[in-house]
Amino acid sequence: MTEAWPALPDGSRLALREILIHGVLSRAEIARSLGLSRASLTRAMRILVAQRLVVEVGTDVRGATGRPSELLQVSSGQWEFLGIKLTKDRLYAAVTDLGGRVLALHEEVIDDTNPASLAERIAAVLERLRAAHPAICAIGVSLPGDVIVRAGESVVAASVFLGWHEVPFAGMLEERTGVASFTANDVHALTAKEHWFGAGAGRGSMVLVTVGEGLGLGLIANGQVSTGEHGRLGRIGHLPVLGGGPDCGLGHAGCASSYLPSPVVVRNAGHEGKTYEQVVELARDGDEGALAAFEDAGRALGVLLATAVHIADPSAIVLTGDGLPVYDLARAAVDDSLRAALAPYTEPVTVEVQPFEFSEWARAGAVLAIRRLLGE
Ligand SMILES: [Zn+2]
Repeated sequence: MTEAWPALPDGSRLALREILIHGVLSRAEIARSLGLSRASLTRAMRILVAQRLVVEVGTDVRGATGRPSELLQVSSGQWEFLGIKLTKDRLYAAVTDLGGRVLALHEEVIDDTNPASLAERIAAVLERLRAAHPAICAIGVSLPGDVIVRAGESVVAASVFLGWHEVPFAGMLEERTGVASFTANDVHALTAKEHWFGAGAGRGSMVLVTVGEGLGLGLIANGQVSTGEHGRLGRIGHLPVLGGGPDCGLGHAGCASSYLPSPVVVRNAGHEGKTYEQVVELARDGDEGALAAFEDAGRALGVLLATAVHIADPSAIVLTGDGLPVYDLARAAVDDSLRAALAPYTEPVTVEVQPFEFSEWARAGAVLAIRRLLGE
């Protein structure tokens, strides 16, 4: 029987959060950043060590006082987490430790997105991975849909891709597996993962933009993931970007979806029938239609990023997704249109490119479970 995650008093929980985000911290640094007294910190840390959540890894004498201070980091191997990313036809799984490090990966094809069958499926994946990872204590599922919390229960209000409406999937999964389970919108979960363990680690504000078959945006404001009233924050697919362009299919001439989604780039390049990867290759070989389509997509992306800066004032933008070749092939177009769309007095913003892998979305599910257990 797997051990359940322990209930932690606030001081311990906040100290653990600090250590998770920063990797290794000294007692003095934790006390300073949380404003804890020596006695409170000692109490908080004693609980974390007793629960095998953190371990001491030597001492540091850099502090202002010159006194040695013990260094702490999260323990590995004691507590493990299963992250799942669902798409309409595949399931990606990752097992991580408390520090978000990936210990195992698994993926399989799914042919039935019915919630009960998927809960069954995930339970089977859990059993399989538990053979080598008996310390899995929670499951986080990241999925393409609107996830809201209603009366303390997390509910998937809608998912077009999975064909779900009002599905209390976390509760269903918890009932089926007996393991604490959580759900979140996939882009919001990926944003949260980057915020704790990726390009945005330690930042108070950040925007993540994904470009691929679809478009998405996640927002960290005041150190928290924003989800919006209906779990739909960041639906940027139909933001107007370059007026007068091709119809996106919904009657918008020149919205983000008229230029940026991978299938649209293929169509705008005049290479319908080819794959996105083939069109990327054609552009690299100098094909004019392909280059023009990427150029337009790049200009659209620049406007999109500028819009995100205007609305969110982030300290950085993290750009990811399987449509990243647009940033590679049309970098100048992205940068020029981003700069042109910003007011002249706006501070320049860093764009950090995060290479795309589906396993990162599954890892985001595991990080979601860790965050929820820490009360985020
Ligand atoms: Zn549109």
